[in-house]
Amino acid sequence: MMTAQEYEESLRRLHLVVYMFGKKVGNVVDDPIIRPSMKAVAKTYELAHRPEHEAIMTATSHITGKKINRFTHIHQSVEDLVKKSKMGRLLGRETGCCFQRCVGMDALNALSIVTFNIDAKHGTEYHKRFLNYLESVQENDLTCDGAMTDPKGDRGLPPHKQADPDVFLHVVEERKDGIVVRGAKAHQTGAVNSHEIIVMPTIAMRGEDRDYAVSFAMPSDAEGIIYVLGRQSCDTRKLEGATIDTGNFLYGGHEALVIFDNVFVPWDRVFMHGEYDFSGQLVEDFAAYHRQSYACKVGVGDVLIGAAQTAAEYNGVASASHIRDKIVEMNQLNETLYCGCVACASEGRKEPSGTYNVDVLLANVHKQNVTRFPYEIARLAQDIAGGLMVTMPSNEDLKSPETGKWLEKYLRACSGIPTEHRMRILRLIENITLGTAAVGYLTESMHGAGSPQAQRIMISRRVNLEEKQRAAKKLCGIQDN
Ligand SMILES: Cc1cc2nc3c(=O)[nH]c(=O)nc-3n(C[C@H](O)[C@H](O)[C@H](O)COP(=O)(O)OP(=O)(O)OC[C@H]3O[C@@H](n4cnc5c(N)ncnc54)[C@H](O)[C@@H]3O)c2cc1C
Ligand code: SF4
Repeated sequence: MMTAQEYEESLRRLHLVVYMFGKKVGNVVDDPIIRPSMKAVAKTYELAHRPEHEAIMTATSHITGKKINRFTHIHQSVEDLVKKSKMGRLLGRETGCCFQRCVGMDALNALSIVTFNIDAKHGTEYHKRFLNYLESVQENDLTCDGAMTDPKGDRGLPPHKQADPDVFLHVVEERKDGIVVRGAKAHQTGAVNSHEIIVMPTIAMRGEDRDYAVSFAMPSDAEGIIYVLGRQSCDTRKLEGATIDTGNFLYGGHEALVIFDNVFVPWDRVFMHGEYDFSGQLVEDFAAYHRQSYACKVGVGDVLIGAAQTAAEYNGVASASHIRDKIVEMNQLNETLYCGCVACASEGRKEPSGTYNVDVLLANVHKQNVTRFPYEIARLAQDIAGGLMVTMPSNEDLKSPETGKWLEKYLRACSGIPTEHRMRILRLIENITLGTAAVGYLTESMHGAGSPQAQRIMISRRVNLEEKQRAAKKLCGIQDN
């Protein structure tokens, strides 16, 4: 297993083509906007070496029998799935943001199921290829980007009917030694902190979309792969060098548009090529795993609740009954989210490949709650924080000889609490509910792993309504013929 330092050094050896603010980024690892997101991923390496977290952060490889980082593990039991949920909460609490590495873990697990199933039906050899690939991911302790979402163009049209055929990633050429692909993947979490990009189709497909039913993995610095970093609200505060105004000055997340400009993929890295009848299953399995992964929101929720309680204490209102009740409400919502991610793990089942999958219905119910509860927790945190959270002058004003004394005097709340501490805790709440971390805590809660309607469709498909009707009719004496 790599240490956090070795992970950082491994990224320095990559030759990524990254653009941000219209310019090419020369040194990705040390760029002040990107670096906090690298540090958040590095935490997944650091904690794996801490004895107190070993049981949660590490696992035993089912291929080699060696100890590996859980982010590269294929779940072999319900216990593994439950530990995955605990790991998500732990890291969310440690970083207060998206730590990015789950998408790759979820892609690996979904592919471990689906490559096996494709082979069983079509007599292909994807599973063997996949296991070889997996072994190298585990041996080298790699971070993988799970790349599912295409730009999608007109949402009402299937891939082959789009005005621009590249808005869904597809195969443009088949060669003796591999395939050439073109297209893009949007909103890619942690892409430039990744060693590998694992591509999967984004929707269920039919025969006409055969060329779009493609899955493969490529090194993140392969020729033809280009990254354009996404902006986040308040991102340039990281360039100012002061620690107060960023809220969370240690960690962050990032997303990028990843472009595949005629990228050659050798056969040993191709895991689906034209088997459109399995693209829906790959989407569903990846989405279910990633919906479970939103245990991370519980960890970030822990931080936000802690920040709200601290702000209440600094303001001298912590014992007011409505504040206490709001803190209870935040905890109730947050722990309900925890129940969901543990429940779908606890009800997990073994797939034919031997991989344990989560309960898909419960994973979708959990994600549906995730589209709502963090917004309510954020609303309550803003209520408790007070207006100063968004009207507060800057770090520089606090340090300035002209204005500092006025801020010290007028922004102080409870005596004994330094004004700077009050500013720091309010900036952290701002960061999670309005700033860079709100990308992960709020909008990703809404759209990540599929927008809310995607879960409602899955819930309606998976719920056994007839069984419920039978139970009701039996109790009131209705007998159907
Ligand atoms: C912060 C963040 C991180 C992410 N990280 C990743 C990642 O690492 N990897 C990855 O692959 N993806 C990632 N995603 C992508 C995520 O899965 C998508 O955002 C999600 O699937 C929604 O797609 P979209 O953003 O294109 O929205 P849209 O598809 O444009 O959806 C917008 C609205 O239109 C509705 N809609 C869309 N299509 C239809 C239709 N055909 N009929 C009716 N209604 C429709 C939706 O329900 C929704 O209400 C991330 C997203 C975010 C916000
Ligand atoms: S949003 Fe959560 S589950 Fe998704 S990659 Fe970030 S930390 Fe992992």
